[in-house]
Amino acid sequence: MPDTPDILRLESLQIHFPVQGGLFDRVLGRPAGAVRAVDGIDLDVGRGEIVALVGESGSGKTTVGRAITKLAQPTGGKLLFEGRDMTSVQGATALRPYRHRVQMIFQDAYQALNPRHTVFDIVAEPLRSLKLIDNHAQLTERVSEALAAAGLNPPNDFFSRFPHELSGGQRQRVVIAGALAVRPELIVADEPVSMLDVSIRAQILQVLVDLRDKQNMSLLFITHDLPLAWLIADRIAVLYLGKLVEIGSADEITFNPRHPYTVALRNATPQIGGNAGRAELPALQGEVPSAARVPKGCRFHPRCPLAFDRCKSEEPLAVGVGAQHVAACWLVD
Ligand code: SF4
Repeated sequence: MPDTPDILRLESLQIHFPVQGGLFDRVLGRPAGAVRAVDGIDLDVGRGEIVALVGESGSGKTTVGRAITKLAQPTGGKLLFEGRDMTSVQGATALRPYRHRVQMIFQDAYQALNPRHTVFDIVAEPLRSLKLIDNHAQLTERVSEALAAAGLNPPNDFFSRFPHELSGGQRQRVVIAGALAVRPELIVADEPVSMLDVSIRAQILQVLVDLRDKQNMSLLFITHDLPLAWLIADRIAVLYLGKLVEIGSADEITFNPRHPYTVALRNATPQIGGNAGRAELPALQGEVPSAARVPKGCRFHPRCPLAFDRCKSEEPLAVGVGAQHVAACWLVD
């Protein structure tokens, strides 16, 4: 794990979305509720570090990514980039330097790419909109560089192609090239390989690891897939219903998980490391509940096979359970 200062720090970050109450609520003057998509998380990413944010669908992980890339506005807490508070910075002009340094790779390359634009124009778009180039020769050089870094070689062969002329893996590489074109320092990659064949996944993951190794780029890798997180990340943070329940090195989280939710995720993936990290625990039942109805106490208690009375009334705090390894569960306190 690189021992470098943080490039990104989230402090008690909250993103709540208001929910309109029903007719009776309005007549009786009851307060409207809120979807607590992200409910106070602390997370840092070091320069040149790959951190995986792991959780089931509905855990809030994409919302965290959108907040970091300023596509969602936090309702509480802080978002610090290189120590500078970016929480309340808004507007295209004020955000231009930040967008230059922080980019997002989306899950669905089909939706992320405009079908009427050529690969050249797609990759050139952020360079043009952020006004980072002076002339066409410079633009061509930067587009070529980004396509090559994303593994599309020779780059010229792809300039005039349209998305429908590319394979799924090539489309995702174009999405990555679009993010790389501005030479960002932090990339938030939201399930970047989940829609690709297994054989292509390894190639795309290698592109991301190469970017870290060669350009010291930082990466927040969002995924529901614990083995994938273990393969690529230095550290793993596990998110459940808007809260981080466990953070540690990739090996610690995968082979020595301490939170029952992480153990359940680990038990669902027996293909890595044999039985290491697996524990006797019934399989996880049901899905993550709605963030509009977060249970009292430990939010995992309705699904936790080890829950006891205290879990239903008091929310556990994160406590250290090893070197840079913390978990929020009364059983590890
Ligand atoms: Fe389960 Fe209780 Fe631990 Fe929550 S605090 S994970 S309910 S044992």
